[in-house]
Formats: sequence, C-alpha cells, structure tokens
Amino acid sequence: MTKITNIKANWILDSRSIPTIYTEVFLTDELGNIHVGRAGVPSGASTGTYEALELRDGDNDVFDGKGVLKAIENINSTALDLLNINFETAREIDEFILKIDGTENKTKLGANCILGISMAAHRAFASSLGVELWQYLSDLYFESNAEENSRFPQIMCNVINGGVHADSGLSIQEFMIIPQTGDIETDVQFCSEFYGTLKKSLKKAGYSISLGDEGGFAPHFTSCQGALEFINTTINENDKFGGKFKMALDCAASEFLSGGIYTIDKKQFNGPELVDYYSKLVENFPIISIEDGFGEDDIENWILFREKLGDKILQVGDDLYVTNTKRFQKFGIEMTAGNAILIKLNQIGSVSQTADVINLAHANNFETAVSHRSGETNDDFIADLSFAAQSKYIKIGAPARGERVSKYNRLMEIKRNL
Ligand code: PGA
Ligand code: ZN
Repeated sequence: MTKITNIKANWILDSRSIPTIYTEVFLTDELGNIHVGRAGVPSGASTGTYEALELRDGDNDVFDGKGVLKAIENINSTALDLLNINFETAREIDEFILKIDGTENKTKLGANCILGISMAAHRAFASSLGVELWQYLSDLYFESNAEENSRFPQIMCNVINGGVHADSGLSIQEFMIIPQTGDIETDVQFCSEFYGTLKKSLKKAGYSISLGDEGGFAPHFTSCQGALEFINTTINENDKFGGKFKMALDCAASEFLSGGIYTIDKKQFNGPELVDYYSKLVENFPIISIEDGFGEDDIENWILFREKLGDKILQVGDDLYVTNTKRFQKFGIEMTAGNAILIKLNQIGSVSQTADVINLAHANNFETAVSHRSGETNDDFIADLSFAAQSKYIKIGAPARGERVSKYNRLMEIKRNL
C-alpha cells in the first residue's frame, strides 16, 4: 500500500510568462521509501467555452489577474484530505479529488489545481514501481500494449502561427507539417531540417521570421492560402522533403466566427461556403487534417463538413469536444460531428478522465491527437501519454524553444530506452 505523505505546490512561469502551477507529490511505500512525482500545468489562449475551469486569482494588480494563488491554496487544502490514505493506483487519487470537488466543470477546486496533483501522482506511482511514466499509464489505462506495438505518434509540427497565437494577421491559427518517414527520430530530424529551411526561405523572400506562441514563424502573408503555398513550395523545392510531408491546419474557427459568419482574410463565409473553401485547400495541398474548422456550437456545419470531406481528411474536434467524455459521446459518437479528437489534459483536468476519453475514441474508431497548449512548461507528460495510448498523432508545436522541444526530445528518449 502506498500513501501520499506530502504535496507541495508553487507557481512557476509558463512560456508566455504567465504563472502556472508546479506540483510535487510525495508517495511513501510500505518499505518507507519516498517517491516524488512532479508536474507543470499547461494553459491555453484559444480556449474552448466548455473547458473545465482554470482557476485564476483575478486580482488585476498582480500578474494582470492571472495569479494562481487560489488554486495553490486549493492544492494545499486538498492535500490535507489526501495525506496518509492508502491508494493502490493514481486513478484512485483522481477519483478521491474529483469527489472533493464534486462539480461538473471543476469550479470548486479548479482544473489546474486538480490536474497538477493528478499528473504528479501518476509520475510518483510510476517511480514507486520503477517503471517509465508511459509504462505506468499503459498498464493502468490502455489495452493497446505500447511496448509490443511500439508505434510512435506522427508529429503535427507547427511551422506558421496565426490567430490569437501571433500578430501575423493570418486568420487560421496553426499551419502544420506531418513528417512521414515512419521513424520517430527521423521524423524529429525532418521537422527540424524543414523548420530551418523554411526560416531561410522566409528570410530570403523578405518575410519576418519572428515567432508565435507555439514557436512557428509569424510572417505577414496576405492570405492563408499564401502561407500554405509558401510551405508547400518549400517542401517541393527540396529533393529531401518532396513527398515526405503531409500538412495539417488548426483553424480555431471560433476565433473568426461572429454572428454565424466566418471571416478569413477579410472575406466572409457562411457554413456551406466555408466547407467549399476547405475543399479547395484539400484539393490543392497535401492536407490530411483540419482541426476546429467550425465553431464549437456550429454542429450543423461540422456535420455538413464531415459528410463532404470526412472520408478524405481528419476533422479534429478540439473546442468542440474539450476532451470531455459527455461532449464527445454526444457530438462525436452520436451526431458524428468530426472524426478525430484532440486530447488536452487541462481541458478536462485529470489524467484518468483524459485516458477514459481516449479509450472511448479508439473504441469508436476515432483517431486521437494528444496535444500541448499554447502556454506550456517544459513538462513532457504528453509524450508519454501519446505513446502509452498509441495515439496516431501528437501536436507539440515547432521543433524550437524549450517548452516545445522537451516533448520532441522525450519521444526520442522513449524510443531509445525501449
Ligand atoms: P490553445 O491552442 O492552447 O491556445 O487553446 C491550441 C489549440 O487550439 O489547439
Ligand atoms: Zn485547436
């Protein structure tokens, strides 16, 4: 039997210089050995309306209202309830805290409070058993047998940033490439080499090489189509890259939707017109995935989109499902809006609930893409999660900056230690 003997929580800075929570969970096993798990909680900017609550202090004089002292207080008070109780698994700890919170959207304790303890507890349990985090997650939650299959996720690598992640003026938030080499180390190498090549091409063409929140470039193209053309040309001009990359978009469409009308590059579209716009992009570029092509409440057009293009590309629900089993069951499985789901731990706020929605998705033939947030720490939990769950995709930003490369490097480390 294992007991939690201490929990520490503090604020640290995330990649946007906004405070977030850093949690340490100390487990003591039967022999009296102490095992520590640590975790940094991520934070989004283009957040979905239906995400679990990220508790912020709201004191505008401190960190512009973004302090996390209340969430830390909640961790400290929850810790008092958790101390010296025997737990057999980290899932039991999740369930215990979820009961204390008792709300649908984690409005009592805050999803950031709960997730910090949950991630750190999973790491502490893995350490107490002397196994890698992915191994612990795989054994506890997933039937896919990561060790035997050892399929690594394909990387959705962000190369150009728009939307609320950059001041590039591009309406679409993320322009990504997906290397197709079939080997995780070569995929990482290709992401890096392409990123470097794109930087040179942008510079040569007179574009800015400043970066957005996820490490992709933020050039001022006059249209999203122009950005796609630039990326595609850079792929095809280089013999090494030709045919080796697919492309993906995260439109984060809620951000350019107003009064039922979508505005891209100053042009206005209703739902069916936007489906046509995406169809043309898919015809002209090797796009295999479009995330949040429609707003989180625009279910009708999500369904139209799936009927028109669902057999050609992945239609990934991010703000649509918010990693929430109930929303996914209703809009994904029952109403077939979308055919793939983005998985973000902090949208739902606990590791066990995240694992549950991944399993539900896989059981219903939906692909999963485990994802970072635009505000990140150097925590690499999602690399282990994606491998443990045998997710087909992982979305981890550009192959640059510490908070992004920590995930790239962890994927390679998992492979090298197999
Ligand atoms: P966010 O962006 O973390 O700012 O929500 C990521 C995404 O939309 O996938
Ligand atoms: Zn998204």
